[in-house]
Amino acid sequence: MEKVIDESLQGSSLKTKSRKKNVRKLYIESYGCQMNFSDSEIVASILADEGFNTTSELEEADLVLVNTCSIREKAETTVRKRLEKFNAVKKSRPHLKVGVLGCMAERLKSQFLEEEKIVDMVVGPDAYKDLPNLVREIDEGRNAVNVILSKEETYGDVAPVRLNSNGVTAFVSITRGCDNMCTFCVVPFTRGRERSRDPRSVIKEVNELWEKGYKEVTLLGQNVDSYLWYGGGLKKDFDKASEIQKATSVDFAGLLSLVAEAQPGMRIRFSTSNPQDMTLDVVKTMAKYKNICNYIHLPVQSGSDRVLKAMNRLHTREEYMKLITDIRKILPDCGISQDMIAGFPGETEEDHQDTLSLMEFVKYDFGFMFAYSERPGTLAARKLEDDIPEAVKKRRLQEIIRMQQKHSLYRTRQHVGKIEEVLVEGPSKKSDAHWMGRTSGNTVVVFPKEQYEVGQFVNVKINDCTSATLLGEAVGMAENTA
Ligand code: SAM
Repeated sequence: MEKVIDESLQGSSLKTKSRKKNVRKLYIESYGCQMNFSDSEIVASILADEGFNTTSELEEADLVLVNTCSIREKAETTVRKRLEKFNAVKKSRPHLKVGVLGCMAERLKSQFLEEEKIVDMVVGPDAYKDLPNLVREIDEGRNAVNVILSKEETYGDVAPVRLNSNGVTAFVSITRGCDNMCTFCVVPFTRGRERSRDPRSVIKEVNELWEKGYKEVTLLGQNVDSYLWYGGGLKKDFDKASEIQKATSVDFAGLLSLVAEAQPGMRIRFSTSNPQDMTLDVVKTMAKYKNICNYIHLPVQSGSDRVLKAMNRLHTREEYMKLITDIRKILPDCGISQDMIAGFPGETEEDHQDTLSLMEFVKYDFGFMFAYSERPGTLAARKLEDDIPEAVKKRRLQEIIRMQQKHSLYRTRQHVGKIEEVLVEGPSKKSDAHWMGRTSGNTVVVFPKEQYEVGQFVNVKINDCTSATLLGEAVGMAENTA
């Protein structure tokens, strides 16, 4: 089966605490990457100031928003089915309004409003601050659209409300957009050029989360290693910055240090890293601070130099393998995960074998694996024929998934017999008598609850494992407990 990022969360309706004076109800559903889930928290925050409380009941909503993903065709098909459902609800709730947010809004723009007439509002990822005006437009019976991509918008001044939060872990977005132009990827077209958020506003948000009892933050971006703050503006314009701006700029390693030092009792994670931009400074910073988690999500997409080139990934197989070797030298226990695409145009059996042998070399802890899906407007769609038959893509994907399962089990077995520091996130999905938490390396751990509580750092002795989960028993509180 194709594995989807945040599978358990896909399509979940998100809810937060109500404000007494708010009378209207917002139902917001999110798809796709963590960035989209994080954006929905910004949207809910903006609309809370406009009189909307969130609800998880579609039938009582006054406004339905669907935060969409365009990364693969399947993601778009799912959203289209949901739009049909929302329109059916409209028949019994005629005042109900429906809006599309995120990447599909940007990709399809006014097609939803003008040709298909299935929504009332279309809002791209950089236009959420315009929502108060857009909602006013639809209240007055007009359709509303804003899909303008911005050079500056980072939402640094919007304090997100946390939706469906466990009160322990939270996402903090640090960059928006992507400049990489991987030929398969729609992100640069739907989320615009890369820009970084002011480190002071990042630290402010992290400090506020700590005050509210959160114990872990994940710094988010399409390509966090490319983070560069020099006073605002696009990353590509850094060359034009003044000498003083350049001298006082903050890169990703710098930002990591600032966050780690601001809250030493808090765990720090980040996602996603791009091999071509990840520096050893980042890895050394991870080694320097105990509270930065030993985990790197390092998508490679293919193990073949020929395919990497056709994908416009700006590194070779050799360079990627060297990076992995260097990471393991500096951080021997670092958890490493991958994203992989099976069946990119022109991929031969030999290329596919290169992917499998790269996986054998790294032995990833886990991964997110996909069959290639041609996305309109991307360079691959314009220049390359989607020539790998579906059955071949599926078979190669299965082989990649099987190999990953073998390696995941190899990795989880290495934990058996050890004591791991686990941050308790909540009850286990399978048993109410057990807690679920994660190691620093991001592996899920399940153990009997006893006297321990959500949000605590607990030392857990690992007794057994599956390929995805470690099973253990608590042996005391961890030193990290603040
Ligand atoms: N920015 C990250 C990077 O460059 O590696 C990941 C961003 S993307 C939201 C998440 C993953 O979706 C990618 O790493 C890739 O494996 C997958 N993906 C993107 N476009 C795809 C496509 N057209 N077909 C199949 N998978 C795709």
